[in-house]
Amino acid sequence: MATKLEYIWLDGYKPTQSLRSKTKIVKEFSGKVEDLENWSFDGSSTEQAPGGSSDCILKPVFTCPDPQRKNAYLVMCEVLDSKGQPHESNGRALIQDDDNDFWFGFEQEYFLWDPKTDKPLGFPAGGYPAPQGPYYCSVGANNAYGREIVEEHLDVCLEAGLNVEGINAEVAAGQWEFQIFAKGAKEAGDQIWVARYLLERIGESYGVAINWHCKPLGQLDWNGSGMHANFSNSLLRTANSEAKFKAVCEAFRPAVAECIAVYGADNDQRLTGKHETASIHDFSYGVSDRGASIRIPLYAVDHGWSGYLEDRRPNSAADPYKVAAVIIKTVKTAKV
Ligand code: ADP
Ligand code: MN
Ligand code: MN
Ligand code: MN
Repeated sequence: MATKLEYIWLDGYKPTQSLRSKTKIVKEFSGKVEDLENWSFDGSSTEQAPGGSSDCILKPVFTCPDPQRKNAYLVMCEVLDSKGQPHESNGRALIQDDDNDFWFGFEQEYFLWDPKTDKPLGFPAGGYPAPQGPYYCSVGANNAYGREIVEEHLDVCLEAGLNVEGINAEVAAGQWEFQIFAKGAKEAGDQIWVARYLLERIGESYGVAINWHCKPLGQLDWNGSGMHANFSNSLLRTANSEAKFKAVCEAFRPAVAECIAVYGADNDQRLTGKHETASIHDFSYGVSDRGASIRIPLYAVDHGWSGYLEDRRPNSAADPYKVAAVIIKTVKTAKV
């Protein structure tokens, strides 16, 4: 039976890459990623190649059913250059986690955005709703805006087999979050990107855009959007040691610039020290501290200093592949 394969990739735009996709029809597909063929696209239209030699290669790396179309699959791809080497825009290829020892749980925040008012859902044209306070985890037509989109997204993600762990309304009006967890950094990144793709496509059918910017309402008293990266490796999961946890945290101190470089565009606007963030100029960590760069969850302390850490600095528009890559690289430098 004719099967639709939606090949999805990240373009070469800087500083923030966007999703691109196109459909390939095949006669038959087993559902296994290793049975998918490479494909190509015009890199000169995505800032990934010059017009004179424009072909870039799509290498399928993750696939799942596409619940929104009949006989269809979503196919997340890495981009290779014309010589078959990872393209410079390919953050996934930077991840050094071949044994899937690193587990990641990303908390993806975003705004549902009305293209007509150029404001979040729930913001009246030309004005502001009541100050933030009532919106977080709220219910009711005066507080929660766009729930039908969020619910449809959750159902579609679960049907696709993505490991969504939860959703919640966030602190600003029209702001929401979903969490995805995977045992393996590449898999976590793949699932976040596919979930972002599905959300964008659902938004299309409601005429609602998804705003991934980390501070879309500027410096007014409205929260920005993060993508907290919760991570662990076997060292942290079985540490049983406060000293080991602190050694991993300390490994991030000299890596601040390298981390911030891939934690998402315009993060200076978000990491101000207000709205549950640490200043972009500081580095700090602390137990249960939501004003720190890295939070040591109470969970870890309660489990005899074993568990995971939360890097609160990555923002909503960051590439989870690049975030995971730098975290893994940094944790491996810890002096334990
Ligand atoms: P909060 O909003 O309190 O920061 P959430 O419940 O939204 O926390 O997200 C916590 C995340 O931590 C979840 O995505 C969960 O999967 C993740 N997590 C839990 N345990 C681990 C672990 N051992 N390694 C990596 N991530 C983990
Ligand atoms: Mn959360
Ligand atoms: Mn949140
Ligand atoms: Mn968090």
